[in-house]
Amino acid sequence: MAATPIAPLDLIAADSLLSEEERAIRDTVRTYLDAELRPHIADWFEAGDLPVRDLAKGLGALGVLGMHLEGYGCAGTNAVSYGLACLELEAIDSGIRSLVSVQGSLAMFAIWQHGSEEQKQQWLPALAAGEAIGCFGLTEADFGSNPSGMRTAAVRDGDDWVLNGTKMWITNGSVADVAIVWAQTDDGIRGFVVPTSTPGFSANTVKHKLSLRASVTSELVLEGVRLPADALLPHVRGLKGPLSCLSEARFGIVFGALGAARDSLESAIDYALNREQFDRPIAGFQLTQKKFADMTLELQKGYLLAMHIGRLKDEGAVTPQMISVGKLNNVRESIAIARESRTILGGNGITLEYPMMRHASNLESVLTYEGTSEIHTLVIGEALTGLAAYR
Ligand SMILES: Cc1cc2nc3c(=O)[nH]c(=O)nc-3n(C[C@H](O)[C@H](O)[C@H](O)COP(=O)(O)OP(=O)(O)OC[C@H]3O[C@@H](n4cnc5c(N)ncnc54)[C@H](O)[C@@H]3O)c2cc1C
Repeated sequence: MAATPIAPLDLIAADSLLSEEERAIRDTVRTYLDAELRPHIADWFEAGDLPVRDLAKGLGALGVLGMHLEGYGCAGTNAVSYGLACLELEAIDSGIRSLVSVQGSLAMFAIWQHGSEEQKQQWLPALAAGEAIGCFGLTEADFGSNPSGMRTAAVRDGDDWVLNGTKMWITNGSVADVAIVWAQTDDGIRGFVVPTSTPGFSANTVKHKLSLRASVTSELVLEGVRLPADALLPHVRGLKGPLSCLSEARFGIVFGALGAARDSLESAIDYALNREQFDRPIAGFQLTQKKFADMTLELQKGYLLAMHIGRLKDEGAVTPQMISVGKLNNVRESIAIARESRTILGGNGITLEYPMMRHASNLESVLTYEGTSEIHTLVIGEALTGLAAYR
C-alpha cells in the first residue's frame, strides 16, 4: 500500500520504503523534537552552549540513545530506524544529532561491542537513559586523519594502568561522566573506560566555534590517570576498535545530514511562497524553481542511498566503503542544499531567524569529523584502484 508522504518534498514516495514501525518511530521522534527542542535551538546556537544533561534525560526517555543496540536498557531497533531518528535529530541541528551519535554510536557502542559484561552492566543502562553522558576520545591535536600516530599512552603499573596524554575536539567531553579513551600500549592501541571523576582527568571546553555551536566540544587532559586493570576494553586490539565505532556513527551521518538539508529546503520553499518581489512570490520565478528542483533531486537521491545502505546494514552486509560513499555524498549534497537554500532568503537568510545558515555552518564540521571528505574520497579511490593514496 502506498504511503502518504509525511513531507511534501517526497515526490517519489520514498516514504513507501518504510515499514509501519519505522514510520511510527520516525514520527514520534519528529513530534518530540519539534515540540521540545526546535523552539530553543537558535538560542542555544547563539549562546554557544547546550544543556546536555537536561536534553539527554529527555532523549533517553524518548529511547534514541543507543537505540540500535540490544539489551541493557537500549531500544534494540533496526539500523534504518536509527538512521531515521538521526535524520530527524539533524533536522533540528547537527549538534543535537552529534550528542546522540557520540553517546550511542561511539561511547555506548564501544562498550557494547568491545566491553566486558561488568562494563556493560555498569554503564549502558545509565547511558541509554541519559542519566550518564559519554564521550569518545580518539583525535589528538597532532593526529586527526591519522589517529594511528596518537601519543596518548597507557602503561602498566602492577595491575593498574596509568594514562597520560591529551585528546582534542571531543564532543560532550566537558560534560561526560565516562570517556572512552584510545591509547598506545605495548600491545598496540587499546581502549579504556575512564570515569571522568578519576584524579588526573580534566576537560577544557573549546570556545569561539563558528560551527556546531549547539554542541559541547572539548580537550581532554589525562595526567597520570590511574585505572584498575578492568578499565581496559578487553575484546579489541588496534585501530580497528575505534574504527568499528566510527563506522556506526558515520552510518548515522549518512541519514542525519539529509535532515539539515530537508529543513533548509522546506524553510526556503515556505519563505519563497510568502516573499514577494516584482509583485509576485519569488517561488514563481523560474530560477528559484530550478534551485528547488535541483535540491529536491539531490535530497531524494541521498535518501534512497541512505535507505539502501541502511537495509544492507540490517542484513549485516554493509562495508566501510559503502558508508564512505554515503557519508561523502550526503554531507556534500546537504551542505550544498543548505547554502543554496540560504540564497533564496536573500538578507534574511543570514540570520538565526531561519535555519539554513546555521545548518550550513554546522555541516562544515560534519564534512570534517568522522573522516574528512578527502579521506572518504581516498577510501573510495582505494576501492576503485586497489591503491591506497593516504600516505
Ligand atoms: C566539532 C567537532 C567535533 C568532533 N568530535 C570528535 C569526537 O567526539 N571524538 C574524536 O575523537 N574526534 C572528534 N572530532 C575530530 C575529527 O574527527 C577530526 O577533526 C578529523 O578527523 C580531522 O582531523 P584534523 O582536524 O586533525 O584535520 P587533519 O587531519 O589535520 O586534516 C586537515 C586537512 O588535511 C586533509 N588530509 C589529511 N590527511 C590527508 C591525506 N592523506 N590525503 C589527503 N588529504 C589529507 C584532511 O582531509 C583535511 O582537509 C571532532 C571534530 C570537530 C570539528
